[in-house]
Amino acid sequence: MDDRGQRRMTDFVVAVDGPAGSGKSSVSRAAARELGFAYQDTGAAYRAFAWHCLESGVDFEDADAVAAAFDGFDYAIGTDPAAVTVRVGGTDVTTAIREPRITSRVSAVARNRAVRARMVELFRQVIAASPAPGMVVEGRDITTVVAPDAAVRILLTADESVRIARRAAELDGRDRATAVDLSARDRADAAVVDFLTAAPGVTTLDSTELDFDATVAAVVALVRAAQASAPAAG
Ligand code: C5P
Repeated sequence: MDDRGQRRMTDFVVAVDGPAGSGKSSVSRAAARELGFAYQDTGAAYRAFAWHCLESGVDFEDADAVAAAFDGFDYAIGTDPAAVTVRVGGTDVTTAIREPRITSRVSAVARNRAVRARMVELFRQVIAASPAPGMVVEGRDITTVVAPDAAVRILLTADESVRIARRAAELDGRDRATAVDLSARDRADAAVVDFLTAAPGVTTLDSTELDFDATVAAVVALVRAAQASAPAAG
């Protein structure tokens, strides 16, 4: 709240980080629905930016050209966890950003420092613009960089073999390619942001032995506990 008692931005942020295939997108979305919160998938922005660079014919090896492409990046994401939509300019890219041609290139744009700085601003703007009572924000650097002061901070992990199996099931059993893609992407991403170890104050939630519903319930329980111990908002 600001000093006139107006709601300035989403007061309650739930930050969720984790590696590829940890289930953080589906778990975060389901938890947001259950809590009546908004939901922001930050990986979607990096994917949409990779799509934009491909469409604009930007050379992915040219860091300055990639950074400059952000100026023409007209991005919009819906934060309703029941219906997430992603747009770049006038184009709905919700499905296109999941294609292998994007997944294989997204780490290349995500390691660009100038792009990351612009993304952090963008994610905070999306949080600030939401009228929801809270927002679940998920990615790789949410607990550490985007929202280090979040009310709840979670690192969602699972053993690599379990993550590969889950991702392969989502992708119709293309498991070999998935395994290579997933571990290569984790390695590339981990070189930029350490999302494999929890920063101080971040709760590690290991879902290796948990099914989907139990993982969502664990996230919701952490949020409810934080809400119960937080001072009532003015
Ligand atoms: O979560 P998802 O797999 O869709 O993320 C796509 C890519 O976006 C990741 O592989 C990573 O390179 C990048 N990313 C990031 N920081 C975030 C979210 C995603 O670097 N907060």
